[in-house]
Amino acid sequence: MQRVFAALLIWTLTFVSSAYAQPNNPNPAASAAPVFAPPTSIAGYHDAASELQAEKTFLAVPDAALAKEHLRILTSAPHMAGSPEDKKTADYVLEKFKEAGLDAYIQEYKVWMNLPAEIKVDVVAPQGVVMHGPTPEHVSDDPFQSDPRVVTAYNEYSPSGDVTADVVYANYGRLEDFKKLQEMGIDVKGKIAIVRYGMNFRGVKPYVAEQFGAIGVIIYSDPWDDGYFKGDKYPLGPMRPDSAVQRGSIQYLFRYPGDPTTPGFASLPDLPDSKRVPPEKATDLSKVPTTPLSYQDATPIMANLGGPDSPRDWQGALPFTYHVGPGPVKVHMVLKQNYQWATMYDVIGMLKGSQSPDEWVVSGNHRDAWVYGAVDPNSGTAAMLESVHGIGQLLKTGWRPKRTLVFCSWDGEEEGLLGSTEFAEQHADELKNAVAYFNMDVAVAGPNFGASAVPSLKQFERDVAKGVPSPKGGSVYEQWKLSSEKEEKERNSRVNSALGGSPREPNAKVKQDVNVGDLGSGSDFTPFLQHLGVPATDIGSHGPYGVYHSVFDNFAWFTKFGDPTFVYEKQMAQVFGMQALRMADADVLPFDYEEYAKEIAAYLKSAEQKSKDTFGAQSPSFTAAQQAAQRMQKAGAEMLKTQTKATGDTAMMNDALINTERAFVIDGLPGRPWFKHAIYAPGEYTGYAAVVIPGVNESIDRKDLATTQQQLQVLSDAINRAAGVLEKGAAPAAGGASGK
Ligand SMILES: [Zn+2]
Repeated sequence: MQRVFAALLIWTLTFVSSAYAQPNNPNPAASAAPVFAPPTSIAGYHDAASELQAEKTFLAVPDAALAKEHLRILTSAPHMAGSPEDKKTADYVLEKFKEAGLDAYIQEYKVWMNLPAEIKVDVVAPQGVVMHGPTPEHVSDDPFQSDPRVVTAYNEYSPSGDVTADVVYANYGRLEDFKKLQEMGIDVKGKIAIVRYGMNFRGVKPYVAEQFGAIGVIIYSDPWDDGYFKGDKYPLGPMRPDSAVQRGSIQYLFRYPGDPTTPGFASLPDLPDSKRVPPEKATDLSKVPTTPLSYQDATPIMANLGGPDSPRDWQGALPFTYHVGPGPVKVHMVLKQNYQWATMYDVIGMLKGSQSPDEWVVSGNHRDAWVYGAVDPNSGTAAMLESVHGIGQLLKTGWRPKRTLVFCSWDGEEEGLLGSTEFAEQHADELKNAVAYFNMDVAVAGPNFGASAVPSLKQFERDVAKGVPSPKGGSVYEQWKLSSEKEEKERNSRVNSALGGSPREPNAKVKQDVNVGDLGSGSDFTPFLQHLGVPATDIGSHGPYGVYHSVFDNFAWFTKFGDPTFVYEKQMAQVFGMQALRMADADVLPFDYEEYAKEIAAYLKSAEQKSKDTFGAQSPSFTAAQQAAQRMQKAGAEMLKTQTKATGDTAMMNDALINTERAFVIDGLPGRPWFKHAIYAPGEYTGYAAVVIPGVNESIDRKDLATTQQQLQVLSDAINRAAGVLEKGAAPAAGGASGK
């Protein structure tokens, strides 16, 4: 699923500059492309030569033409999770994993989900206004739009319902938007709220609307956010056409993701119903009937709202002044959802490590799509298959990974991270030793590389990008640096506030280098990092992309706008595979816990200020937590020195490096015990964007002093635990031999 608005932000900032015009460089004389020079040393390797040789062999394999062929085959039919076409894509991936030499199998899970049986949204007042939606998605020319298997646009995990009510416009459906309506004296109770996509995870919108008493929610795509206001509409340009709808899940995944009936344990096919949570008791399911619309269908509703003018920053790009209502426009919504058990098909491919087989290096991408999913997610699947192809060729030279490589093709990500969550819950024990989880969802929507990671892996991401050539010349790192510097400059000069911050923007900038963002949610890294404490990353390459979750995210769009020559597919295959290779074979794991501690210290500083602003003189002391962060920073710096000079047996040090992230695992966040990471969680009111030190920050937001104090203690303990693990791990290796 993940961050369409981030892609848009990046696009907005670069559209006028050279990035999008790259295939047809307007000023070739001014930009002689830099030449790629591979690095000569690698962090974590005593002797980089053999690793660099292996990387060279690997990098030569991923192939643009083969990636194109994978994408064409994977996107030849709509393949929603659990469908027969989805199973076919699983079989295709299984075959490719086996061809490359992986031990591969399909893991099935039984999950609770819905398909739309009947979706109707009709305008019933005022007289003379006619709209019977949702109108099927259609443009003048697209080869894929008329397939009868294209699912009606709907929101997964909406309840069924039949409601008729006056409509109120609530902007992006954020907490502050509904509060603003309240201030304006507009009561949402008993009304249908119409909100626009963007700014938060779509599941947050009905979550907040429910709290304010709405009985129905319509989420529409405003042309301001990803339509004609941003550029030409598909098929002329890459942006959202009038009839295109953003499908998507409204699962309350900030409570818990995965199968709603099995929070914390795996929904294996033979798990009896008696061991499952009855769906009506699942706390991650919306109670408000919710459905998406195109702006073509939303226009008659928006145009006929009365009441006061909306606040001016709520105005979108439809050609009239937006009012908030309520009414006089009245809507009748009929949603008949067919809830049922469905089968998920994860494809897992393993390559056993020769030296440390219990240490897993896991890489994953989801395969299921709302419709064809050329960008989301199969640009990632095609790239992953070429990564695996490269590793297969490396195997033929006699190379074996030191640690175990695991490649995962997830199912049911779009519904609620189903396949990845169930796998992580099933393998929680084995994953205690997992070294890292590398995620890739939207691999390619355009030419601008970006990454998010836990702070300990931010430098690792930069280093990997230095080792891969960019199609624009030089390394991926050099091009990433150029495009992000440009973005930063643009951001300072003309902030486009309604597009929000990019999730690639870290909450704290402690290093003068390319920004690597923080991990919130909206993709499959969530169960690994936030439930189990496995260090994680997420990468992608972005550009103008307005067809997210519509029928038009297909092979025709991709070959016209996304990556016509598939060179960015090749790049992402190289980066994705290189992460796994470097982590699997490192003598000393390349984690930087000094950078991690510095970021935590910065989070604490911001939270302390917020606490003072909120609680005044009663604000609790942050001293103990800050001291813990300082202790960890010192231990992280010591560890870095030891990592650099370590020789011989590094097993104990590596154990410590693996266990440091686990030290952040706590019993659970207040009100959402499934989320167990003390430093990162998806925000309850943002969904995609990370909330840092969430136990503390969200308690302050709730103005709950007692919980803030208690969560500060939990956090200080976790940071001290991490510091302790680092101190112990660095000590024996510094003194010479270590035993394991
Ligand atoms: Zn996705």
